[in-house]
Amino acid sequence: MIYLDHNATTPTAPAVVAAMLPVLSSVWANTSSQHGPGQDAKRVLSTARATVARVLGCKPVEVIFTSGATEANHMAVRGLLAASPSGRRRVLFSSVEHAGHLRLARALASAGVQVDFMPVLADGTLDLAATASLMGPDVALVSLMAANNETGVLMPVAQVAELAHAAGALLHVDATQWVGKLTFSFNSFGADAVSLSAHKFQGPKGVGALLLRQGVPFVPQTLGSQERGRRGGTENLAAIVGMAAALEMLGDVNVEAARQTQLRDRLESGLTAALPETHIWCQDVPRLPGTSYLRFGQLSVDVVLQRLDRLGVAASSGAACSSGGSEPSHVLNAMGVNTEDALAAVRFSLGRTTTLDDITSLLNTLPPLLKPMLHEEMPIPCAAGITAP
Ligand code: PMP
Repeated sequence: MIYLDHNATTPTAPAVVAAMLPVLSSVWANTSSQHGPGQDAKRVLSTARATVARVLGCKPVEVIFTSGATEANHMAVRGLLAASPSGRRRVLFSSVEHAGHLRLARALASAGVQVDFMPVLADGTLDLAATASLMGPDVALVSLMAANNETGVLMPVAQVAELAHAAGALLHVDATQWVGKLTFSFNSFGADAVSLSAHKFQGPKGVGALLLRQGVPFVPQTLGSQERGRRGGTENLAAIVGMAAALEMLGDVNVEAARQTQLRDRLESGLTAALPETHIWCQDVPRLPGTSYLRFGQLSVDVVLQRLDRLGVAASSGAACSSGGSEPSHVLNAMGVNTEDALAAVRFSLGRTTTLDDITSLLNTLPPLLKPMLHEEMPIPCAAGITAP
């Protein structure tokens, strides 16, 4: 199988599994227990926390372990908003946040919170001028992703941090697609809170963290004594140890970023040369090294994914399917892309396990399959029911 869906999730690294197994089998006591095994488990937790903090450039006390980025995102927004001064009730989200995060935005709006959306430009980058004009003394919180999971476009975190802080607001950043792929240090990132998820960098699924700057007022959303009272619930120790191992394994991310950029560029130039109908979105703006978001003319993504599946290639679509039809990606919609083009969106996302052979094989096999169809362009109804994760 050629796996080109790393933005959805990544294969768990063997070193991560090796780090987790002894914890699963031997360190199963509750970290809150007073007895010896409980205290042993507590020490393992505190070592993992220290590792996570060291690699991510924050203090151990600033790490709150969660079940992943969705939970971290929700608790950041709800917890920071609940702690904000009474005159500040407005929250800004970008219009291209992860689908789960936009659901939270809508839920807040239905509950009476004033929610505004920071738009993006046609090239997928954040509209900074519009963002600046949305700031004001009533803004409690700005929530912005660091890198978009569909297009890979990098967002101007430092500039938005400046705008938010100048307005007296806090900044939460969903760095789920950034951490593990690009240099990251919480200390210098500029955000007050940052979400991340281990399964995007070869860690296990179901574990992540919210990094919360020490001293920032926060109202816990899941009540319990764990994580200094900020996130209740017995810790998933094996998964936390797995996340620490995955972070430690990253090494110099720039070396891997350069390798993936080269492979991604090879993929894009090869596809464009073989199929001139190929259109690549966001190619000229800063984006994640391994992400390529494109369409082959207006060939339905379902047709493309079926052919890819036949070739043993796993990729993703940018469409959400509801009963009776497909809905275009909200990200492409926010960029002003028309529905026909958006319904042809294919996302290839490369990762640490992607090789040059994978790319060469794809370039040798896919274009001959698509070429004859590009002249027919028959849309086929959507089969799956999910948006690109
Ligand atoms: N935010 C972004 C940008 C993501 O890409 C994802 C995962 N697709 C999430 C949040 C959700 O992460 P998790 O699966 O850990 O809840």
